[in-house]
Amino acid sequence: MGSKLSIDENVHVVVVGGGFGGIAAAIQLKSLGVPYTLIDMKDAFHHNVGALRASVQSGFAKTTFISYSATFNGNFKQGKVMDIDTQKQCVILEDREEVCFSHLILATGSDGPFPGKFNKSVTKESAIQMYENLVQEVQKAERIVVVGGGSAGVEMAAEIKSDYPQKEVTLIHSKVALADVELLPSVRQTVKEILLRKGVKLLLSQRASNLTQLKLNEVQQEMSVETDKGTTVTADLVICCTGIKVNSSAYSNALKLKLADNGALRVNEHLQVEGSENIYAIGDCADVKEPKMAYHAELHAKVAVKNIVNSLTQKPLAAYEPGRLTMLLSMGRNDGVGQISNCYVGRILVVMAKSRGLLVWKSWWTKHKGVNGSERWGGADKWLLRGTDMAKSKNLLTWKSWKMMGQYAPS
Ligand SMILES: Cc1cc2nc3c(=O)[nH]c(=O)nc-3n(C[C@H](O)[C@H](O)[C@H](O)COP(=O)(O)OP(=O)(O)OC[C@H]3O[C@@H](n4cnc5c(N)ncnc54)[C@H](O)[C@@H]3O)c2cc1C
Repeated sequence: MGSKLSIDENVHVVVVGGGFGGIAAAIQLKSLGVPYTLIDMKDAFHHNVGALRASVQSGFAKTTFISYSATFNGNFKQGKVMDIDTQKQCVILEDREEVCFSHLILATGSDGPFPGKFNKSVTKESAIQMYENLVQEVQKAERIVVVGGGSAGVEMAAEIKSDYPQKEVTLIHSKVALADVELLPSVRQTVKEILLRKGVKLLLSQRASNLTQLKLNEVQQEMSVETDKGTTVTADLVICCTGIKVNSSAYSNALKLKLADNGALRVNEHLQVEGSENIYAIGDCADVKEPKMAYHAELHAKVAVKNIVNSLTQKPLAAYEPGRLTMLLSMGRNDGVGQISNCYVGRILVVMAKSRGLLVWKSWWTKHKGVNGSERWGGADKWLLRGTDMAKSKNLLTWKSWKMMGQYAPS
């Protein structure tokens, strides 16, 4: 990919959602010279992989929001897609404006509570300020409860306890094992050991039962967090890291017969929405049986764009092969654990992988300023980078997104 194509004037690809999948698709369309419009309700891409660090470390949030218009100029449109007219082949925005397409890529991702997710139609500056406000609340608080011990919750608790070892941090989780269910039991056990070593109090197999009555993300004295097992924890700050849901509002009406139980779109091996030749779904909103991850969304984007190009040039369509689990959990700056495929990756390797990845990306950045150079990685390097990529050496990943967007990160 990269050389410009000769394209029929009726071709116009609309990408709905500028998350990891959507920007990867738009960048490829741009580099191929395929006419496109990227639509997102926000004015900036959110590198949400760094959202938890941004909640604890002042100044980090500004590296996690990257303006769309600086990269995509007039090809970016800010707005919320409310529906799709499949007859007219248009998406319909909140203000009833219609944007018509020859091909549509749905990349609306998933939504969940702040701070892990940020899907609000506010300016980049306001978004950054919300994270800076949370940093201040964390600084003020003495007793913090994190609700939800999935990957986001365990990282949140570890981030806080790493920077503020003196604060009391309690993690409430409805199951016995922590982090993602797809992870090896040994990885999940290490997550638990790291948290205990850092001094996080664990309330496992209990569900917080009065969250709706509590003010989240703001310091309030003597809040009582209750659980379904009758435990009460007193806290002055409560942060919720549960409840990630597929963001289906853009298509749930028009494509209601194509929805999986969780609201994702059923797709075939080419990532076309079932029964459709010109509508693709990628990333978290595609019903692909694999862990929902940023780098999978980027791989989906590659396949969807390739298939649009192949369909225009009468070539066979490419098939997407679901990826295997590669996830390294960053448990504060200097700790972590994870797995690459079915192999356990311990702390030392995670830390080494992070440093290695950081240097590699740094030189890549220096040598190849431009968009999406990642195409040029090959073989083992690419494989390891995929590992370290997820390595959530969060700084590394923010650099990767700035690099993809062809912009320089603020210092
Ligand atoms: C705290 C946290 C940490 C994570 N860490 C990692 C990690 O280290 N590595 C990894 O691989 N994955 C990680 N993930 C998972 C990863 O973030 C998701 O898999 C990824 O964001 C999915 O990308 P996406 O493009 O499908 O959707 P999203 O990133 O969710 O983006 C969707 C976009 O669509 C827009 N949108 C939605 N609906 C509409 C609409 N109707 N109209 C207009 N715009 C719309 C939203 O504004 C948003 O910008 C993490 C997730 C969380 C919550």
